[in-house]
Amino acid sequence: MRRLCVFCGSSDGDDPAYPAAARELGGTLARAGIGLVYGGARVGLMGAVADAALAAGGEVIGVIPTALVEKEVAHTGLSDLRVVASMHERKALMAELSDGFVALPGGIGTFEELFEVWTWAQLGHHAKPCALLNVNGFYDGLIAFLDGVAARRFLKHAHRAMLIEARDADGLMTRLRAYAPPAVTKWIGPGEG
Ligand code: AMP
Repeated sequence: MRRLCVFCGSSDGDDPAYPAAARELGGTLARAGIGLVYGGARVGLMGAVADAALAAGGEVIGVIPTALVEKEVAHTGLSDLRVVASMHERKALMAELSDGFVALPGGIGTFEELFEVWTWAQLGHHAKPCALLNVNGFYDGLIAFLDGVAARRFLKHAHRAMLIEARDADGLMTRLRAYAPPAVTKWIGPGEG
């Protein structure tokens, strides 16, 4: 893996464990020689992961739409800051530059970004791993919900299993390295799986 895309909150959340996990992930990526691709902001967990990766000597590429350069305070100290025209271009470029995706705690922007790349994997558009970093059980409710969706046969178990879960950065690295995309990558309606 050359670069990992990190989706995460533009806020810090209510638990110091969230920014701490963002910093831990940034440092872990840099020490592993894996570049960070993220939303290019200085605010919230986005700033925390980027600053930690930079401090540990890592490559950090930010991708931010023009409209958010001021609102999310574009990070000016990155290895590379790509300013794009739209949210859609942002996600497409982040996906193209990255070999895998992980969501730290965040809000609906984070969820939207993760769900898009996971649905692209489900359709077989790419075979890159998608993961949740479940800091302090932040994603427990979502994980239970997704298991329920699979049990109700709106989501194949093979596709459900594509979403990696980890509790910390080291566990995430181990699971990302072991990831193999499932043979079932195309939605063919309800049935097996
Ligand atoms: P949030 O998790 O809501 O704090 O948002 C995290 C990041 O996702 C921020 O940089 C948002 O600008 C970004 N974001 C929100 N909605 C979208 C979208 N539709 N496409 C791309 N990025 C988005």
